[in-house]
Amino acid sequence: MRNYIGGAWRDSSATEWLEDRNPATGKSIARVPLSPKEDVRAAVDAALGAWEEWRETPPLSRARHFFALRDLMEERFEDLARTIAQDMGKTIDESRGEVRRAIENVEVAAGIPSLMMGYNLEDGAASGIDEEVLYQPLGVFAGISPFNFPIMVQSWFWPYAVATGNCWIAKPSEQDPLVQVLLFELIEKAGFPPGVVNLVNGAKETVEAILDDPDIRGVSFVGSTAIAKLVYARAAANGKRVQCGGGAKNLLVVLPDAKLDRAVPNMLSSCYGTAGQRCLAGSAIVALGDAHGPLRKKFGEGASKLKVGYGLDETVQMGPVVSKASQDRILGFIEKGEEEGAKVALDGRSVKVPDYPGYFVGPTMLDDVTRDMAVAREEIFGPVVSLLEAEDLDDAIEMINRSPYGNAASVYTSSGKAAREFRYRVRAGNIGINLGIAAPMAYFPFSGMKNSFFGDLHPQGRDAIRFFVESKVVITRWL
Ligand code: NAD
Repeated sequence: MRNYIGGAWRDSSATEWLEDRNPATGKSIARVPLSPKEDVRAAVDAALGAWEEWRETPPLSRARHFFALRDLMEERFEDLARTIAQDMGKTIDESRGEVRRAIENVEVAAGIPSLMMGYNLEDGAASGIDEEVLYQPLGVFAGISPFNFPIMVQSWFWPYAVATGNCWIAKPSEQDPLVQVLLFELIEKAGFPPGVVNLVNGAKETVEAILDDPDIRGVSFVGSTAIAKLVYARAAANGKRVQCGGGAKNLLVVLPDAKLDRAVPNMLSSCYGTAGQRCLAGSAIVALGDAHGPLRKKFGEGASKLKVGYGLDETVQMGPVVSKASQDRILGFIEKGEEEGAKVALDGRSVKVPDYPGYFVGPTMLDDVTRDMAVAREEIFGPVVSLLEAEDLDDAIEMINRSPYGNAASVYTSSGKAAREFRYRVRAGNIGINLGIAAPMAYFPFSGMKNSFFGDLHPQGRDAIRFFVESKVVITRWL
């Protein structure tokens, strides 16, 4: 793979390369350069070179590039989705969903003339002295993203950064960066001027070069909590704006009055969609009172019927996990759960997919899980669900609020009062009521609390632009 810098595909000066493998076949499909700081600097120089002219381009003209890109993404929709299915491993339908989300962010960012309007007040300071706020771009921003949504997560950031008049450097996950190559071909066709949007491949060293570069004004990051904390601290210490999404441990709470026939299919999709590798995935189900027995039965039956296989097969419902290292980590969690006393009620460890020797883990359900166990507390990021019990709604809410994570939480109930109580008191950024995947649309922020988000401004939506602009206050005295 190459980097895209200053409007051209350039060889990286990397000395180390990683194999990017198709998780279903285990075969290498690309070699990813671990770009050193010289490559990052070349991208910064290109971005700085393009910036003055880009910021002077009227917002509506900037928006037209996004309209063009949207059309090109629609034209190549299937290619984008197929690339994700082959590189990341999710099913083709899930991949289509991800591409749709990316397009939606491009569409929202195309509304930049309205999104970027400041405000004013006549006589705001005193009689005859007016006051106004202007929003102005800052310069060069960079975005560092995780493997699980190789096109969507970058789209939470870059369309807003670039539409507001900044230039951008994308650093996708080294585990599945291929879809970005296709996207950048479309970005080029959409006529974005050279240097406005750049792509640098790599991992730790590349990220550190971004965090330390004095000309990068801000960093958007999404990934695991451990790395989010490092990135947040280092970028902030270097005086940059920074927003960092971290890991998650999302609980689905089921009240005895939940409509299980409708809730269980939704919970299955929450827990096993994208093989459990979603930051909004349900990871533990907390049943209240009588709900536990019927839930375990229905959920277990549903989970055991899910078809596991290669994501490009339209009939497959769950693909592989991203890598051998992920597979090993997930299997390690199942073992640890057993050691700590959980019962493996549905065991995905031995799943085999004919002709595909890749990194599969079947749907797994752990019963008799108590809240002190590692499987109940830590992020597994795989298709492993823990069943827990709580005494009442207060107890379940306390369980969620005591978790160090705060990405998402869901409740299934027929009671409006219980749902309101849940929504009011739970400390998590994305709340689902009778919905297990509380994924905000592009015009709403992608929220997160506690160890799931570090920073002040969440990505996506109307307010996302505030991260990428500075406010200038102008006070005018009319003489
Ligand atoms: P990760 O933290 O391993 O990697 C994320 C990015 O950080 C990658 O681009 C990677 O190259 C870079 N990186 C890795 N190690 C680094 C280091 N030591 N120094 C600097 N940079 C480094 O995460 P992942 O495994 O790719 O993604 C899965 C994680 O992302 C999960 O924890 C998941 O919950 C989280 N996630 C969170 C959200 C959210 O919105 N909060 C969304 C999606 C995924």
